[in-house]
Amino acid sequence: MSVCIYPGSFDPITLGHLDIITRGSQMFDQVIVCVMVNTQKSPAFPLEKRLEMIKASVKHLGNVSVDSHAGLLVDYAKKQNAGIILRGLRAVSDFENEFAMAAMNRQLAGDVETVFLMTRTEYSFLSSSVVREIIRFGGDVSELVPKAILSDVKEL
Ligand code: ADP
Repeated sequence: MSVCIYPGSFDPITLGHLDIITRGSQMFDQVIVCVMVNTQKSPAFPLEKRLEMIKASVKHLGNVSVDSHAGLLVDYAKKQNAGIILRGLRAVSDFENEFAMAAMNRQLAGDVETVFLMTRTEYSFLSSSVVREIIRFGGDVSELVPKAILSDVKEL
């Protein structure tokens, strides 16, 4: 059985994330979306809220579950018996960071493979930080985040 972990901050989840999760769920038997607790970032949305928003967004996908982890991603992958880390790539600018992270994770756990899915063109400029910026200035994010969380993200 192929289990993959899709890690990230999801601050908040966007349609770009949901697209990667949906496509991942068609490729792998099980997808675990894992909110990584990053001590160097102070998130706009609390962890519990981010988990709640992801759960609401993926509840129609039967083989997707949602969790969080504070610590090394490869340790979490091992704990879940997952052999795959799933990441999305938007632009060349994502590549350098992702390349370094994949190399580091390979160094730490040679049997865990990182798999990349290219963004859909319509989401290639979409990021959680863009969404947060628009919300702060009272703009419309209905085309950018899953419908299920529209009322939640208005309260930033
Ligand atoms: P992180 O802080 O780990 O980058 P994010 O929540 O920003 O976490 O993103 C999680 C993953 O989703 C990353 O691999 C990122 O490149 C990918 N991603 C983010 N936005 C998009 C998008 N619009 N299209 C495709 N992939 C995306």
